[in-house]
Amino acid sequence: MEVIVLGTGHGTATECYNTCFTIKNKDEYFLIDSGGGNGILKQLKEANIELEKIRNIFISHIHMDHILGCIWIIRVLSKKYYKCLYSKPIYIYGNDIVIKTIRELCELLIPKDFLGLIDNKINLIEIKDKEETKILNKKVKFFDINAKKVKQFGFSILIDKNKTFTFIGDEVCSNLTEKYVKNSNWLFADAYMAGEEAERYNPIKKHNHSSVKYVAQLCERLNVKNVILSHTIDYDLKNRKKVFIEDANKYYSGKVFVPDDLEKIELI
Ligand SMILES: [Zn+2]
Repeated sequence: MEVIVLGTGHGTATECYNTCFTIKNKDEYFLIDSGGGNGILKQLKEANIELEKIRNIFISHIHMDHILGCIWIIRVLSKKYYKCLYSKPIYIYGNDIVIKTIRELCELLIPKDFLGLIDNKINLIEIKDKEETKILNKKVKFFDINAKKVKQFGFSILIDKNKTFTFIGDEVCSNLTEKYVKNSNWLFADAYMAGEEAERYNPIKKHNHSSVKYVAQLCERLNVKNVILSHTIDYDLKNRKKVFIEDANKYYSGKVFVPDDLEKIELI
């Protein structure tokens, strides 16, 4: 299995796409968040991911930089279904607020002819805290991350017998979320800024976004084997990888990944 990172930026990033990624198993993809616009179509194209191979999408919360790309995917897929170019259904998972918002946006924005496809080919699935399902033929457990801004969910996916990949959205990990992070083989977390800049700016206090140091210390304490840091500032992408990894290594002995857009990470 591998992660293909489609975007790595924070909410209003312009130098890279907003944070979203896919998990690939064999020839099928699970898309996690979708960025803020039709840039998702370009990122998928550049990553050589055909829309038809994405069977499941999870949207963590309703902020624009996570949910709006999904409306574009629905728009493009609708046309394919409508013209009978494609027939397999797609499943879009989210908490109650996410699903209600996607439904309302579709009613407002998607051509009327296509609306009959919603809950038919395009299945909007409302998930509850601690709900389990199977995606990519693997066990997935969704959970509420107890976000401070809007209701936000994360998930854990069992990628191998006892290897877990955990995604905790774009806010600071709450006490209640720590049990899902503990002993994960992989953690995908937000890390807005690194080093002294983060100490000065204090993204935790300002936006409830993590600093590199915060996530690194969390991973060390909770025995996480590998961490992928994303949802970052975008004005120094050239040095981001080096600066973030060096900072994380001060507090964490596991492996640190700071991907660029379109980078692939093998889940070993
Ligand atoms: Zn965000």
